[in-house]
Amino acid sequence: MKYLSILGSTGSIGTQTLGIVRQFPNEFKIVGLSANKNSELLLKQIKEFKPKAVAIMDRSKVDDLLNFSSCQVYSGLEGLNKIAALDEADTVVNSLVGSAGIGPTYNAIKAKKNIALANKEALVAAGSVIMDEVKKNNVKLMPIDSEHSAIFQCLNGENISEVEKIALTCSGGPFRNYSRQQFENVTAADALRHPTWNMGNKITIDSATLMNKGFEVIEAHWLYGIEYEKINIVVHPQSIIHSLVEFQDKSVIAQLGLPDMKIPIQYALSYPKRFSSMQKSLNLAEMKTLEFKEPDFDLFPCLKYAYEAGEKRGTLPAVMNAANEAAVHAFLDNKIKFLDIQKLIKKMMDNHNTINDPDLNDILETDRKTKQETMKIIEEERN
Ligand code: NDP
Repeated sequence: MKYLSILGSTGSIGTQTLGIVRQFPNEFKIVGLSANKNSELLLKQIKEFKPKAVAIMDRSKVDDLLNFSSCQVYSGLEGLNKIAALDEADTVVNSLVGSAGIGPTYNAIKAKKNIALANKEALVAAGSVIMDEVKKNNVKLMPIDSEHSAIFQCLNGENISEVEKIALTCSGGPFRNYSRQQFENVTAADALRHPTWNMGNKITIDSATLMNKGFEVIEAHWLYGIEYEKINIVVHPQSIIHSLVEFQDKSVIAQLGLPDMKIPIQYALSYPKRFSSMQKSLNLAEMKTLEFKEPDFDLFPCLKYAYEAGEKRGTLPAVMNAANEAAVHAFLDNKIKFLDIQKLIKKMMDNHNTINDPDLNDILETDRKTKQETMKIIEEERN
């Protein structure tokens, strides 16, 4: 039996994780849950899964929970960190979105919890600090992202020094066939229509700009210790091959499956075992075509920014991540245009004086300041 705390249990990954727990009641027990504002769904989850404790970030929602639940109810950032380090949990599923996931990931590792990580922004912004703590505390960090789960499976039993390169597959998002001109008038509603995956709003926009794939390059670097020049991206619109590893003998191992996040979530929780899944099977004969092409780095410059930030290290990836997060929120609120997202990221990266070996506080402070500065620029340009 694994004892789980889920940070961000009301989101897309969080609810799918609870779906897995529901299927395997003898394998997993929920001890902690958390949400940002959605007290209504959190309350339903409390009633069904009976955790020891929960946290809600928005303190004004605490009474919605206190009056109706028998478990311990925490609130705010301290509350979230309590759930991340709960004594009863052995594994923390981090399905928070954005840089809000950095601190709780760090605290969960410090409390010697194994981590199932969906919150890629934590590794993008704070990869060196988090990986140091993973080593020091001897905990397991399992990826939930389908591409990184694929790489993990391709590397099972292999020697990392024999890897020639890895290829992260990328659906290309909803605008993969757009021209530069067509990008001008893209709306949030257009960008939220992802062709193969149904996800939370922020990652859906990140998938439209391909910032998400850039984040995944940095995530792969930290998870597997692979140099950036060995990490490639290949556009594969059908999202059937989730990633590939080429070894020095030129043998290539890939992992395949239907685009369904429940598969990598379940694997992150069941590893080293594999449980029988109720999800649909992949039937390759039903696939008419599997296409592959190079990504266009000029049309999707967020890819270039990610390699640049990853190579330069220090606080630059945290700046890229924070500028993106502020810009994506502004785009979703119709305050800026689609192409402004990439312009703001570049501007904030160009203006930044990188701190080379940042500690957690440097990273959190850089994140806070960058978001504040990005929002200031957005407001000034609107007036
Ligand atoms: P969602 O927006 O659907 O869910 C986010 C969760 O985090 C919700 O429970 C939300 O609570 C909570 N939350 C949001 N902001 C805060 C905050 N400031 N403090 C505390 N809690 C907060 O996101 P997804 O599930 O789509 O994505 C989660 C992570 O997983 C992201 O990093 C994403 O990149 C990654 N990922 C997602 C995939 C997917 O298919 N969705 C695939 C691969 C990776 P509330 O509901 O109350 O707002």
